[in-house]
Amino acid sequence: MQLLDGKLISSQIKAEIKTEVDYWTSKGGKKPHLAAILVGNDGASETYVASKIRSCEEIGFTSTLLRFDSDVTEAELLGAVEQLNNDPDVDGFIVQLPLPKHITENTIMEAVHPAKDVDGFHPINVGRMCKGLPAYLSATPFGIIEMLKRADIETAGKHCVVIGRSQIVGLPMSILMQRNTYPGNCTVTICHSKTQNLKEICKSADILIVALGRPEFVTAEYVKEGAVVIDVGISRVPDASKKSGFAIKGDVNFQNVAPKASFITPVPGGVGLMTICGLLTNTLMAARKEIYK
Ligand code: NAP
Repeated sequence: MQLLDGKLISSQIKAEIKTEVDYWTSKGGKKPHLAAILVGNDGASETYVASKIRSCEEIGFTSTLLRFDSDVTEAELLGAVEQLNNDPDVDGFIVQLPLPKHITENTIMEAVHPAKDVDGFHPINVGRMCKGLPAYLSATPFGIIEMLKRADIETAGKHCVVIGRSQIVGLPMSILMQRNTYPGNCTVTICHSKTQNLKEICKSADILIVALGRPEFVTAEYVKEGAVVIDVGISRVPDASKKSGFAIKGDVNFQNVAPKASFITPVPGGVGLMTICGLLTNTLMAARKEIYK
């Protein structure tokens, strides 16, 4: 078994981006600028946003955080999105999900200008991705694709099973894995809560990508000998032995599955760090106006 080390790969990608930013700014260019909107005080969201901002600092991006209380109205939030859309200094921005129930996430995502949609959630970016046109790819699937590429994992002709069909992970992941390129050219099966014979389907996967949000759901019985296992899940599970009172768990039972896998991502230290790299890469592309002029 080989560990797909998100810490190592993400630190290499960040160093590469930093080199580019240093070169660019040394020639008088503006630092790429990523902004984030954070609503409420959800512990996990706070952690994700803090880590995105810390990464910006590490690689020489400017970052801005706009915070709102959880009772912010949809109109107020749309106003903030509009402000960032029109701010010429901001290259790209994200609205950290999930949003409070009284706000329709799709309405907010569709209000973000596609040229600044560095999370890759806007229907125009999703549509362009589906058509194989240049687009900001959804940050988590983008990070996974980059991880497969850097680990030189063979994908052509393989059976890839994706558990989960969410707009931000499972669905774009399945589309990227079937594209006629590398990594891609897989035969893809997408599974969800109504899938029958989930275990059997997973057991036929050469590449198993797990994004359902249920801690340690996937055990060795779901995994074929030699499969590549990518664990997207991040859940906080109560753990009195930890200072924080919780442990971070993936959707895969690592101890149980690792001996069967050819490659496997740990949690933490796997896909989460690659997601940030996807976001930073999209922001660099936005600053260079690579996709939208
Ligand atoms: P989500 O929107 O809740 O979607 C979960 C998907 O899993 C749904 O499609 C659901 O099916 C399916 N599902 C749920 N229970 C299932 C079951 N028993 N069998 C088969 N399918 C089942 O979740 P998400 O946003 O994609 O996130 C998934 C996990 O990834 C979470 O732990 C989240 O925290 C984590 N995540 C991590 C990163 C990262 O950077 N590492 C980024 C994003 C998310 P239905 O569609 O039928 O309901």
